[in-house]
Amino acid sequence: MLVGAGKSLCYQLPACLSAGVTVVISPLKALNLEQIKELTKLGIKAWTPSDDKSERVQNRFYKELIEEDPKIKLLYVTPEKMRKTSWLIKALKSLKERKCLTCFVIDEAQCIIEVGYDFRSDYGTLNELLNEFRGVPIMAVSGPIGPGIQEDNLNQLQMTKDQVFTMPFNRLNLKYAVQERKTISGEKDCFTWINEHCLNESGIVYCWRKVDCDNMARSLNKAGLKASSYHSDVTDEDREIAQNKWNENKCQVICATSGAFGMGINKPDVRYVIHSFLPDSMERYHRETGRAGRDGNVSHCILFYSDRDEGLLQQAIMGTTCKAISSDISNDISISKEISKAIRSPNSCINSSAISRAINSAFLKGKGSKDRKFRNLGTMMKFCGTQQDCRKKQLLTYFGGVNIEANVCQPNSEAICDNCERANAAAAATV
Ligand SMILES: [Zn+2]
Repeated sequence: MLVGAGKSLCYQLPACLSAGVTVVISPLKALNLEQIKELTKLGIKAWTPSDDKSERVQNRFYKELIEEDPKIKLLYVTPEKMRKTSWLIKALKSLKERKCLTCFVIDEAQCIIEVGYDFRSDYGTLNELLNEFRGVPIMAVSGPIGPGIQEDNLNQLQMTKDQVFTMPFNRLNLKYAVQERKTISGEKDCFTWINEHCLNESGIVYCWRKVDCDNMARSLNKAGLKASSYHSDVTDEDREIAQNKWNENKCQVICATSGAFGMGINKPDVRYVIHSFLPDSMERYHRETGRAGRDGNVSHCILFYSDRDEGLLQQAIMGTTCKAISSDISNDISISKEISKAIRSPNSCINSSAISRAINSAFLKGKGSKDRKFRNLGTMMKFCGTQQDCRKKQLLTYFGGVNIEANVCQPNSEAICDNCERANAAAAATV
């Protein structure tokens, strides 16, 4: 489902109508707090065991959870917190035994496969945690996801008797275009486009690395726009200032890395989303372009890419894969046990087969993740290089649409994609 289409309602309503507690496993603390605030306003009891709660408060909620008829309807928790908090697991087991654990909801389920391996590893290992609660229904909700990911998600969560519900998501007001970058950094390409099409409008420019965000913001400011850089090295305070200014239209452009600026952004009048560098997957590209035009007015999704982007992203994938495999190996308990045994008694015999098993398993996991990322990149490059098929048709087909008509973006003549525009111009010239 798209952002804003009512994903939360899919589990909040059943949670309110059912007896017992629904546990929502969701990646972002800030969003969890926001949802709890809204539910509390409606008189629905919701809670999260975040780090800043005192022991006294946590004890009070633990007692509430283990009482005969718990009043809490929704419990929000990040995957990391769920894994680390033993009293919470104990309380959930008590709820399960008393048949008061209504459902587990995995929010942003695309994170399990898409980023779980090397970004939020606890998302990738949720199945191990949920194994202890087999028998409790699981609901996984996600944004649009591509071929294979849905099946991988279901397999990961061991959801064998699954029912899948999807909804169409053709955003008729979004105008897609892809162009080869004329400059290496893309700064001039972005300014020229903004200057010609949306000079005083609100927009987002997604950049590859943090340094690219800084350079892009500096360059756009120099050219006379009001731009802010936004990534994980910018302090919380400066990020909040940048976002507030952008929300109030005192800053026109946010130049961001995709991980930093995304979930929870709901500005309605974003007139353009520019990618100054090749996104690494159709999922990411679709999610980020979807932040344009929430108010329904025509908005632009511009992608500037170069052939060399693919090689640079492949190198980056190799780097993160090596790092993830090394970290998996160094965190493996069977290896640590063998090492500590060898240190304690140097003459003891090391179990080398346990070590090689652990290394093989980490390697296979890393290879699977790398292969998937390379495939994603290949699909993205193909999307960029295609000059015939309608961009929206390609996106809808990728995300599982069948029998999508060739003229899917024609109904809104102001927002037809570059490929359809080209085809229309060629047809007009022939006539
Ligand atoms: Zn089209």
